Amino acid sequence: MVDAARVLRNLEELRALTADESGAQRVAWSPMWLKAREWFAEKLKTLPVEDHYDAAGNHWVTLKGASERVLVVGSHLDSVPNGGWLDGCLGVLAGLEVLTNFVETCNGQPPVTVKLVDWADEEGARFGRSLFGSAAFAGKATIAADRGRTDREGVTLEAALAACGVDVERVGEAVVEQKNLAAYIELHIEQGPILERMGKPLAVVQGTKGVERWAITFRGQEAHSGSTPMEVRRDALAAAAKLALEIRPIARRHPQAVATMGSVKTFPGIVTAVVGRCETTLDMRDLDAEVLAGMLREAQAASERFAQEEGCTVEWAKIWSIEPIPFSPELIALCEEAIVETVGVSERLPSGPLHDAAEVARLGVPTVMMFVQSLKGLSHNAAEDTRREHLEQAVEAFGRLSEKTMQWIGKS
Ligand SMILES: [Zn+2]
Repeated sequence: MVDAARVLRNLEELRALTADESGAQRVAWSPMWLKAREWFAEKLKTLPVEDHYDAAGNHWVTLKGASERVLVVGSHLDSVPNGGWLDGCLGVLAGLEVLTNFVETCNGQPPVTVKLVDWADEEGARFGRSLFGSAAFAGKATIAADRGRTDREGVTLEAALAACGVDVERVGEAVVEQKNLAAYIELHIEQGPILERMGKPLAVVQGTKGVERWAITFRGQEAHSGSTPMEVRRDALAAAAKLALEIRPIARRHPQAVATMGSVKTFPGIVTAVVGRCETTLDMRDLDAEVLAGMLREAQAASERFAQEEGCTVEWAKIWSIEPIPFSPELIALCEEAIVETVGVSERLPSGPLHDAAEVARLGVPTVMMFVQSLKGLSHNAAEDTRREHLEQAVEAFGRLSEKTMQWIGKS
């Protein structure tokens, strides 16, 4: 059995060591992050494991099993500035407990090799590159772009990596860690309000939502606000405003879809002029690729219609997109079993935010995540919290999932 109380003690120890009154300060590539990693390495000393850092700075801890096939358990110790005490480190410390449990119950040698990974720079908080370590591991390193990245103080990513012993030119070599991977599992806080609203402690994550992110520009005619009659105006903001309202029913037609117009800029943007140009952004997400593509088509058609109604034109330019990444149906079923055996009831949720698990799943490695309820849906700040009872249940259910996954690898 895993010892959930030990995980909580470790979480509190890490918080005392790496947080101040504003929250967790374990920003990747910073001295405090290195301190957290040193503290973690110290915890490994009593276990019969080997550990090393790969070319992208990911920390791998290996417990050799009878078979070379590998069950990977992972998450991240890094945080955003003024972050929460659970985001990422819950998964790493629950993973440490899983490893310890296998040592104790399998006489030091489980049937399958178990690896625990602490991914480097999941948050991308300082250099704007999220999932840095897991993307490099998955063969998606962006070295050309990484060379040019700097933080707000003008420090280059290259220099920050070098200070941590990582060579920016070689991060792609982390792909060697893919060898013999049979499954990946990760425990994480939900970071949203859904489980609390349902009154459920735990959920299986079905996958990460696909994202369509676009810049949409409406063009009309700048005109004097006093002399231009209402019926002849070509008001670009009016067309954009209609779209901002229309994306809500477009998303609401699908139970898990979301759509957000997060930025609106008007030109000339003065109180005495009709808006001639309006630049907006749209971010849409869903777990189903067809639903997402349909939402995009509907939003585009609506924007054309509103542009025409207001005597404007509209242009769409893609900012970024990623396809939905579904997790393994078999591991989803095992995760659901583990949750039901622990708390009697489960839920299936997609993840809106991306996670390291998505990079692993994209490689075709069977993957699943477990979410534990977040209080008030808050994360990425000092108010982030989860009931103690729910954390204990999460570690217990995650322990069960690790054992089930181990057996599943043995059979498959
Ligand atoms: Zn996280």
